[in-house]
This record gives sequence, C-alpha cells and structure tokens, in this order.
Amino acid sequence: MTGLNIGILAVQGDVLENVIATKMSLDELGMDGVVNEVKTPEQINDLDGLIIPGGESTVIGTLSLVNGSLKKIKEKIANGMPVFGICAGLILLSKKAKDRVVGEMDQPLLDFLDVKIERNAFGRQRDSFESEISMEKIGIPKFRGVFIRAPSIMEAGKDVEVLSKFNEKIIAIKQGNIIGTSFHPELTGDLSLHKYFVNLIKKKN
Ligand code: GLN
Repeated sequence: MTGLNIGILAVQGDVLENVIATKMSLDELGMDGVVNEVKTPEQINDLDGLIIPGGESTVIGTLSLVNGSLKKIKEKIANGMPVFGICAGLILLSKKAKDRVVGEMDQPLLDFLDVKIERNAFGRQRDSFESEISMEKIGIPKFRGVFIRAPSIMEAGKDVEVLSKFNEKIIAIKQGNIIGTSFHPELTGDLSLHKYFVNLIKKKN
C-alpha cells in the first residue's frame, strides 16, 4: 500500500486547520499518507477517508449538491469509507436536522447517521464556549471541547454509539466508520481525535 489518501472537504469552513491537524497526526503516528483539500467528485472518488469540517451546513450542503460531490460522498460512505464530521459536518451526515430557532429547513443532508440533530443547540455565535469533555470509550479521557454555534444530538438510534455528553446533551457519536462531534478538535492543538480517525482509516485499508 502506498499510504493513505485523506481529504478535507474544502467548500467552506475550517478547512486549513483540519489539513494541518491531519498532517500532524500522520506524522506523529509515523504513517504514510497525503492530506488534500477536495471539492470535486473526481477528487473524492480517490479518497480513503474524508473530514467534513465545521462551517455552515446549509452552505456546504448546497454547494456540494450542486457540483455533484454530495452524491459521490454518499456513494463512498455506502462503500465503507470512514468519515469524520465536525459540527456542520456532523449535521450534514445526519438523517434529520432542525434549527433550534428556525425549525426544520429543507437543507441537503447525507442521510447516514441515525440521529436527530438540533442545530445551534447552545445558542448563537456570541454564546460560543469551551469546556472540558471526555470520550472514555475511544481512549480519550480528557479533551477540550470548543463549541461554536454547535449542534447537539437529540435522539440517537440503536446503532449509534454515544461517545460523549455535555449538560445531558449528546455531543460526540460513532456509527460504523463515521464519527461526529459537535465541537471543533482542530482548534485545540490536541491531536488525539484526529489520530483516532487516522487509525480508523488505516484499519479499513
Ligand atoms: N451552526 C452551524 C450549522 O448549523 C454549525 C456551526 C459550526 O460548524 N461551527 O451549520
């Protein structure tokens, strides 16, 4: 094997921070691989793993729908490609999402995670906060959660493993090869979650 090909969906949002964190994770784990910004169906087709970053889920979803990459991502996930959805990325991976204030919107979703999401569950931009959280189940007992217009998971189906809660709200999950967090690990300098994801890709390949 020549090394892992990891993509960061580069439509809008926290792209560069995830490129850097993923590259550093490969380095620290001593693994071979490349990390590229991707946005076309052709680029996505070649990937072993994908991160969908935080940003604005309506924008990322709509633009990805228009250029055909949403369909390609769906196809790749159905074939087992590991995906890490961060904040807006978590929303896009879900089956159902509604905004805390606006309610249900007809936004494009990837329709994989068996969860109901509440967007902006902790308030608006000015209500952003940080808090220590824990993901014991995947060997990360202590992590700094950075929450920016963050969603929460209101309901999770039986195939969804809950990895973390904050104030009774579910904020990190795993379903098969998909992980999703309400918070932004790429902004912390702590690589443990990115390393966990890189290892998940390696196991699959
Ligand atoms: N509130 C944003 C949305 O609904 C997500 C925020 C984020 O990714 N930091 O798309």
